[in-house]
Amino acid sequence: MELEKAGADRIHLDVMDGNYVPNLTFGPPVIAALRPHIGITFEAHLMVSNPDALLAEYVNAGCDIVMVHQETCPHLHRTLAHIADLGASPGVVLNPATPVSTIAHVLDMVDIVLLMSVNPGFGGQSYIPTVEGKARELRAMIDERGLDVDIEVDGGISPKTIEAAASAGINVFVAGSAVFKDEAGFAHAIGQLRTLATAAQP
Ligand code: ZN
Repeated sequence: MELEKAGADRIHLDVMDGNYVPNLTFGPPVIAALRPHIGITFEAHLMVSNPDALLAEYVNAGCDIVMVHQETCPHLHRTLAHIADLGASPGVVLNPATPVSTIAHVLDMVDIVLLMSVNPGFGGQSYIPTVEGKARELRAMIDERGLDVDIEVDGGISPKTIEAAASAGINVFVAGSAVFKDEAGFAHAIGQLRTLATAAQP
């Protein structure tokens, strides 16, 4: 697949259910159909009202990482344990208004925290820079406890925003428009973002 050849490390799948967010995208059958054609990691970002009911289907469809919103999981600890039991890598997502303190007691259960730098539900929105303060706070919590957790950012990442995000301790970047709208092609866009992020990392 073209993104894989262009140097992407993983495919970020924005699953929207038309309920938690107004848009509707795709679910497990589409992911399962894509999976045999792509060798790199699949991560599912579940923007759905009741993620617990479908976790096994996403893992069976070939998602290596399954990420749930803190805001949609009344029993977050149990949900993250369930993802791990299914054999996938658990991730937790925080909306722009949700403080990092809300995941302090599950940080040891996740491999990745996804910080939203836009409100979930649509592509093409502008980056909310307060995510950088949250990333710094989270990176300090992770380091203090000697954990190995990636921090990812989702929303408005482009050559203009990626350096500030990387310097705040973010080490995984979701890029949509910046990759798909680069007239010089996917490989150019991904290469440029990677160079900028690497140079800005603390
Ligand atoms: Zn996403």
